[in-house]
Amino acid sequence: MKQNLLEFDAPALAAWLAAQGEKPFRAKQLLRWLHQFGQDDFAGMSDISRDLRQRLDELAEVRLPPVLRDDAAADGTRKWLLDVGNGNAVECVFIPEENRGTLCVSSQAGCALECAFCSTGRQGFSRNLTAGEIVGQLWQAKQALGDFRGHAAAEAPARERVISNVVLMGMGEPLANFEQVVTALRLMLDDNAHGLSRRRVTVSTAGIVPAIDRLRDACPVALAVSLHAPDDALRDRLVPINRKYPLAELMAACRRYLEKSPRDFITFEYVMLDGVNDSDAHAHALVRLVAGLPCKFNLIPFNAFPNSGFRRSPAPRLRRFAEILMQAHLVTTTRKTRGDDIDAACGQLAGRVLDRTRRREKRSILTAETAS
Ligand code: SAH
Repeated sequence: MKQNLLEFDAPALAAWLAAQGEKPFRAKQLLRWLHQFGQDDFAGMSDISRDLRQRLDELAEVRLPPVLRDDAAADGTRKWLLDVGNGNAVECVFIPEENRGTLCVSSQAGCALECAFCSTGRQGFSRNLTAGEIVGQLWQAKQALGDFRGHAAAEAPARERVISNVVLMGMGEPLANFEQVVTALRLMLDDNAHGLSRRRVTVSTAGIVPAIDRLRDACPVALAVSLHAPDDALRDRLVPINRKYPLAELMAACRRYLEKSPRDFITFEYVMLDGVNDSDAHAHALVRLVAGLPCKFNLIPFNAFPNSGFRRSPAPRLRRFAEILMQAHLVTTTRKTRGDDIDAACGQLAGRVLDRTRRREKRSILTAETAS
């Protein structure tokens, strides 16, 4: 099979070219063609010698995950369903806002973490995405949104980007797919590739503690942590990875991360579940939990999906909860529900996953047992 060049970050591309007897500086040229100008045809790479173009044609290719569906929501949100082979498909969402455009990218086909309130978790897990499939989502979105730079305009003053921010908040747990995610992050940040600001690329994790430390050392970007509960007993139920990495360890990892983070705070995501984690007492316990840790809270109104077993907290409850955090001087925002008419909101990304871990099957057996 031909080598997919989208799998390579700059050093890996230089090494591959060197192995073909090419000069490593070609890597810079190639990266720019691929990731800045969106050129997927070697024939169109005009400043590369015909000789090399021909060799690239023989040995390599630019393989993108094909777009199976393209949905637009009433509020301007776009969602793409991308084919990653063998019956699996992942979703990627673009969220336009007044002063930025955010692309939400998937890192796995499915997810193995089984957070109680997440529909991706219900789908089971198939496999990790490759770096090329992760960065391929950004590629496809840029293509669809006309966000690639024209080659002729390369030296002209950069126009405003359509996609200014990337968040790894789609399907999957990014830190459970560490190597591929870091390669993709490097391509997003590299000035010869997508050239995004380190502060505008966010990894969101359910809290895989050792991988938080590794990310800090390998490629620090903005960090969001899915907290969802202020104490271990409740978090064990909602975010089962907590049984392995309990809150005290998670909070310590957040502190360590801040030593190298491009942002001087951690974002805590907190899904508001009616009658489960949304009382005044929960809010006060959260304040105590994060005391002394520079952080911001992002409250997410729960997005329903069939048979979720949860309800969204009523708006006045959410407001009261936010008030308690703000009275304790914690910056608190509430995530606007975007694109829910096309099932593009948080926790609604389901894609299509062939569940190789047979999680779904096991769960339905469990449910049948408890029901009888
Ligand atoms: N695995 C990563 C990325 C997940 S998606 C993580 O856990 O952080 C991004 C956010 O959406 C997470 O905070 C996740 O917990 C939240 N989420 C999942 N299902 C949701 C739902 N049904 N409604 C609202 N938010 C949800």
